[in-house]
Amino acid sequence: MHRKPFLPQKPCQRCGRPFVWRKKWERDWEQVKYCSERCRRAPERA
Ligand SMILES: [Zn+2]
Repeated sequence: MHRKPFLPQKPCQRCGRPFVWRKKWERDWEQVKYCSERCRRAPERA
């Protein structure tokens, strides 16, 4: 039997889509709010 590794996920504060934990965020997952650099840099809702 093989279990899938559990990866946390949460919704993007910008686009609202859930995104999954990435290795690059392992040290600051708590601070990550956006699914991508694109969302992070996006201007406040136009
Ligand atoms: Zn997003």
